[in-house]
Amino acid sequence: MNDLNILNELPDAFLDISYRDIKKVFEKPTLVHLKGNKGPALFVSILLHGNEFSGLEIMQEIFKKYKDTQGYALPRSIWLFVGNVEAAAQGLRRLNDELDFNRAWPGTPEPDAPTAKLIDEVMKRITENELFAAIDLHNNTGKNPPYGCISVVNETNKYLSSFFNHIAMVFHTPKGVSTMAFDHICPAITLECSTPGNRPGIDRAVALIDDLMHMDHFPEKPLPTHDLQLVQNNAVLKIAENVNFGFENEKGNFDLTLVENFDRHNFTRLETSEVFAHTTLTKPLIATAEDGTDVTDELVCNENGAISLRKPLMPAMITLDKRIIMQDCLCYLLEDYAS
Ligand SMILES: [Zn+2]
Repeated sequence: MNDLNILNELPDAFLDISYRDIKKVFEKPTLVHLKGNKGPALFVSILLHGNEFSGLEIMQEIFKKYKDTQGYALPRSIWLFVGNVEAAAQGLRRLNDELDFNRAWPGTPEPDAPTAKLIDEVMKRITENELFAAIDLHNNTGKNPPYGCISVVNETNKYLSSFFNHIAMVFHTPKGVSTMAFDHICPAITLECSTPGNRPGIDRAVALIDDLMHMDHFPEKPLPTHDLQLVQNNAVLKIAENVNFGFENEKGNFDLTLVENFDRHNFTRLETSEVFAHTTLTKPLIATAEDGTDVTDELVCNENGAISLRKPLMPAMITLDKRIIMQDCLCYLLEDYAS
């Protein structure tokens, strides 16, 4: 009844396949278990979003490193979940008529969706025995540095985060994200490896996963506070409906003109003195808190058409792609994590 393929070996063709050809190796979502020299196993998920292909390249590098004439000489056992192969083949994040593979994990608001049933099967198999850690590999759009996302703030998750980069995000929504499913099971992190194929993002993830393959246990000493900056989402900033917008370096007359290279503000503090847009409208931007409250008036200052923030926050996930801005958002506004 289910569409999950489970294997105890990795086909050689996996090592060099491109994400668009992934169905030549795995026709459907596939869970691979490979035995290593020690347990508990490390769980790694890739291609939950079909067009975020760094995860595939990261795991190809890991497996190539440990390939020998007998198969794989892995220091630690591993579970690899190759998620949305259909979307990957089509170069899409997900298909239109299905639940997102990263909104379908335990806690999802849509537990009866076929994707959620498939994920249930994955969870059942991988949690039959203890897990060492769970790593979910993603990419995002725009000039973001690589960073980790964790849903529980504890020493092991902080260690995972700091090994990837000096900044990480704490999140509790949306529900059904894979990392949250491991809250009470094992250390878990989502690695946002910058844009698909971005080399520093791939290198950092390979180094972290390789380290986890060798480690006997997580460090017991607490992480020094200066080793990691934890941030959380304060609000999401969207462009109001029917607002004709553009960038300073573009030709045209816009109701809202954003500064050129706005994405250079990604993961840096945007001060209240910094004007980042000009407008002819009263309220061209809408800021919404995580609980859905409109916080535009608290956060966005419009002084004679010059737009700035009312308090310093850190924009993230800024993209200059107008289609994504309209579909998704202009950016998130982050603040320092407060427990
Ligand atoms: Zn993703």
